[in-house]
Amino acid sequence: MTISTGEAHHIATTLCVLAARLHLTRSQAESTLSSVTLNTRVGRGLKTYCRFKPQAGAVITFGQMMVIDQLRPGQAQRWLTGREMLNRGYFAGVLTPATVFSHVVLHEYAHVEQVMTGGRSRNSVHNAPFYAILDEYYALDLHNEVRDRLREYARLPNFDLDQRLSRT
Ligand SMILES: [Zn+2]
Repeated sequence: MTISTGEAHHIATTLCVLAARLHLTRSQAESTLSSVTLNTRVGRGLKTYCRFKPQAGAVITFGQMMVIDQLRPGQAQRWLTGREMLNRGYFAGVLTPATVFSHVVLHEYAHVEQVMTGGRSRNSVHNAPFYAILDEYYALDLHNEVRDRLREYARLPNFDLDQRLSRT
């Protein structure tokens, strides 16, 4: 599945909006989260990550090239997020643009919650506390909420968000 840079930017911008919404939802459930400011941005490259800055709070970057790369044949399953979906049964292990990008939002936002609840240390990032947070999001059905909004906001002509991404 190929999309233009402009379309990838549109999807990455949607991921920013969805992360901001998730932050609002989670801040209501977990009061420590309401004390952190979340900023989101679209990056030009592949890099998709969450970083904490002393003054600004948490910053999540969604890479435009990440969006393009995830849609290439066989690529989604090579990203850590795709491997998690397959190994842990997130979205029943079904990789589509809608599920993959929703999971990317949940994954990056889980890092915010991980840091704020003390589950992260220098040498331990994708650890048990991190996956406990992600598992909770799925148990709370937040993944379907994110996906429903993504379907609505990221809609593009001639692009099926629910089409299965090919595996290799
Ligand atoms: Zn991560």
